[in-house]
Amino acid sequence: MANSKYEYVKSFEVEDKLMPSTWIVVRIDGRHFHQFSDEHEFEKPNDKQALELMNSCAEALLEEFKDVVFAYGVSDEYSFLFKKTSEFYQRRASKIVSILVSFFSSLYVMKWKTFFPLKELKTIPCFDARAICYPSTKIVRDYFSWRQVDCHINNQYNTCFWMLIKSGKTKREAQDILKGTQTPEKNEILFQLGINYNELPAMFRKGSCVFRDKVEEIVKYNQDGDPVKRLRTKVGTVHRDIIGDTFWREHPEILSD
Ligand code: ATP
Ligand code: ATP
Ligand code: MG
Ligand code: MG
Repeated sequence: MANSKYEYVKSFEVEDKLMPSTWIVVRIDGRHFHQFSDEHEFEKPNDKQALELMNSCAEALLEEFKDVVFAYGVSDEYSFLFKKTSEFYQRRASKIVSILVSFFSSLYVMKWKTFFPLKELKTIPCFDARAICYPSTKIVRDYFSWRQVDCHINNQYNTCFWMLIKSGKTKREAQDILKGTQTPEKNEILFQLGINYNELPAMFRKGSCVFRDKVEEIVKYNQDGDPVKRLRTKVGTVHRDIIGDTFWREHPEILSD
């Protein structure tokens, strides 16, 4: 752009670089999704299609932005982890946050029809986003543990709540029954309603992890008709425990420097 006497206005833009050599987490969360999920008649407590739409958006985001090494999603939120050494947009917070959240929102709208062929998108889905820097892998692990514990607590409460509603209780009655209950009592309530919590889909109980993994793929068949396989890196989604060490030990590349 040509120099002009107006160019000084640029100096009002303040620097917002994220701390160097730290893990960056960008967490997005659906705005008013309580309402949005009602308007679009999401199944309660967990609409499978809605969760899979979120996962599909997260997968496409990892395909596009190679610096994002891992993502964890539950309900209307997703957390995206950038490696410590990332120089994505020179680590400028507003650039990173705005690009990720707008990319995700656009995907959500684009993919809506695929996941809800019979439902019209009636209102505009939108997401807030923030970036947080974490200085150590331990804290990154604790961050994702925090989100997965939250997933568990919310899901257990919501499953109880909606089962009580389906059994004929009013919202008020269901709330009163659940007030102050701990995990064993909630499990007991579910058991009496004929539900074994541990048999619910892992996606509901554990949330969703998205990352690149090496998978064997058939690339072609040779003349004898035998498959020719190659190891390919592919973005995929799993529903695993990420609080314990097992998952991270199996995928050391995610948190390696
Ligand atoms: P805010 O704008 O503050 O985020 P919110 O209404 O989005 O408000 P959240 O705390 O983010 O509130 O909760 C999201 C809500 O969206 C859940 O409580 C639930 O009602 C609904 N929701 C999101 N995803 C699903 C889903 N897959 N199935 C059913 N309900 C869902
Ligand atoms: P960054 O990703 O850093 O924003 P950028 O390539 O988007 O980089 P901008 O400074 O935002 O750069 O400039 C936007 C550029 O997009 C313009 O220089 C121009 O080339 C192009 N552009 C935007 N709108 C139009 C338009 N309506 N017609 C033609 N070109 C356009
Ligand atoms: Mg929300
Ligand atoms: Mg939320």
